[in-house]
Amino acid sequence: MQCQFCNGLCIKAGKQKDGTQKLYCKACKKYQQKVYQYQACKESIVKLIPSLMCESVSIRGIARILKIATSTVQRKIILIASKIKKPPIPMNIEVVEMDELRTYIGNKANQYWVAYALCSKTKKILDFIVGKRSKIMLEACVKIYFWRY
Ligand SMILES: [Zn+2]
Repeated sequence: MQCQFCNGLCIKAGKQKDGTQKLYCKACKKYQQKVYQYQACKESIVKLIPSLMCESVSIRGIARILKIATSTVQRKIILIASKIKKPPIPMNIEVVEMDELRTYIGNKANQYWVAYALCSKTKKILDFIVGKRSKIMLEACVKIYFWRY
């Protein structure tokens, strides 16, 4: 069988507890199975999570639709979000607007702030920061505002 990660050749490497054949790829040193019962390990299923998030489907909704665990959906969202890189800020912008919005996580006592800078002309977000309203957060906001000076 070919490796599902690197297309290398896999060899038999024992069996799972339920008797399913386990395979080992010598090239990328990963264990895998030919067929999985659990859906969350399939790349095609995981790729649906960002598009469902964009359609405002809740985490529990995504878990129900894809038939995977809620905690798995949360873990995959964190993993996908960690791979997102901010685009470079163009230096030819003349007017930058800054604003902030308040939200909460869990209950209203646990408040968080999202400060963002956007180009006045294109209304495109240039940079943002999320955190508690503290001195460190305010310093980061000032850095966003004065990054071009
Ligand atoms: Zn491999």
